[in-house]
Amino acid sequence: MAHAQNAFANPKSTIEDRQFLCGVLAQLVERLNGIEEVRGSNPLGSTYLEKVLARRDYGQYSGRMRSRFTALLGLLTAIASPVFAASEGASEQRNGQIVETLSEISPKNIEATIRKLVSFGTRHTLSETASETHGIGAARKWIQSEFQRYSRESGGRLQVTMDEFTQPPGPRNPQPVQVVNVVATLPGSQPESRDRMYVVTGHYDSRVTDVMNTTADAPGADDDASGVAAVMEMARVMAKRNWDATLVFIAVAGEEQGLFGSTHWAKMAKEKNWNVAGMITNDIIGSSRAEDGQVDRDHVRLFAEGVPPLQDMPETWRTLIRTGGENDSPARELARFTKSTAERYVPGMTVKVIYRRDRYLRGGDHSPFLDAGFAALRMTEPSEDFRHQHQDLRKEGDAQFGDLPEFCDFDYIARVTRVNAAALGALALAPACPRDVAVEAKELTNSTTLRWTANAEPDLAGYRILWRDTTAPEWQNPISVGNVTRFTIPKLSKDNVIFGVCAVDKEGNASPAVYPLPAK
Ligand SMILES: [Zn+2]
Repeated sequence: MAHAQNAFANPKSTIEDRQFLCGVLAQLVERLNGIEEVRGSNPLGSTYLEKVLARRDYGQYSGRMRSRFTALLGLLTAIASPVFAASEGASEQRNGQIVETLSEISPKNIEATIRKLVSFGTRHTLSETASETHGIGAARKWIQSEFQRYSRESGGRLQVTMDEFTQPPGPRNPQPVQVVNVVATLPGSQPESRDRMYVVTGHYDSRVTDVMNTTADAPGADDDASGVAAVMEMARVMAKRNWDATLVFIAVAGEEQGLFGSTHWAKMAKEKNWNVAGMITNDIIGSSRAEDGQVDRDHVRLFAEGVPPLQDMPETWRTLIRTGGENDSPARELARFTKSTAERYVPGMTVKVIYRRDRYLRGGDHSPFLDAGFAALRMTEPSEDFRHQHQDLRKEGDAQFGDLPEFCDFDYIARVTRVNAAALGALALAPACPRDVAVEAKELTNSTTLRWTANAEPDLAGYRILWRDTTAPEWQNPISVGNVTRFTIPKLSKDNVIFGVCAVDKEGNASPAVYPLPAK
């Protein structure tokens, strides 16, 4: 009988409901007290109240009780809405600067870059360096000159450097070899965010069947002129605009000989204590056609590692595992962010996140970044045709072997470039991830209290708490909680869901989420 389920007929339930609603009200009052700092931001929209109220088994109550809840919700919303005009919708908005940037990404430029890189014959790391037209030396000089041109065309803010070093002899280089990364850095425009950097790479070296063959034509159109072309096109269009944080575009070398260039740069970044907040390598993003001829232009794979298989595991990783957070490594949070952002900006494109560092038997330039402790991801086409990678140019029957530009889909590469640029642009406009994010675990309670350290950005609006089922891959429930550093969600138990906290600025740009570690 409906009457028996009436909350008014159950004193315990009434007390709980009162406590619960008092909790919501108390936090609302706290938020209202902070109006001056908050002004115009979206800390606590009606969505929060609706969600909180919806979590109570609303349906079990009588019509009278429901109408009381609804009336209270209406009242709370009326109080809150003039102050907190925006709501959760902010997370679905698209930033105009990012939209414009993506619209300038050109398949024609990408095609021209790939054909130019192929024209150097081979870009093997041990190939000749004296020629102006052939070998890896000519290739890197050309990449440098292109970066310099983008810099001139955009007011000179893009800083082009050659990160040069000698790789000592190893299994794939019998002699010491000069390895050069071509680096274009776009410093962030916000002083508080400038030391935070996002790195995007492709490798410009190439190979054929024998990794030690330094003279045979190695067009490397897909592997990895496609990635380099994406990086260069992003540098060209992003350098024209201001981003709060620093963007670093790198064409690396020595990948095929053993990840030389990326290892050198990642180690240097670690030694210098640089704040590399995220990294994406684009490696083999050139073809939409699978080995069986199927064409798929709507997907890109994003490889994202969980907990690294470390010999000596630091306590932070242990705590992550101990609390069921093995799927919430910084790389996985970056992947979630990349997927949701890119799919919002690039219609029809699905980012297929793969919970794995890389494909079997293969490696990539994100690995040294992961090893250095940075969140790093790998972007790769949906289905590789291995006849077109690491192969001598030849025909076998009707089949053409070799990594030729004719197997590239330049429109597809442009789409993957937009996926990258959407994510990198959104990261570089957003505040830093909140620091010291913790979930309070000092007493038994069915509510959840999260706390963190305040961000430094002057345009910070506040924070968003996200949660999802422990078995869910993506965030399911975002709520804005205002410019506070501690928040209690009544009657939502940390035992049952996974939480994350992200920082949001006044334009609605949000950082990736951070998994909270337990604290007393
Ligand atoms: Zn590659």
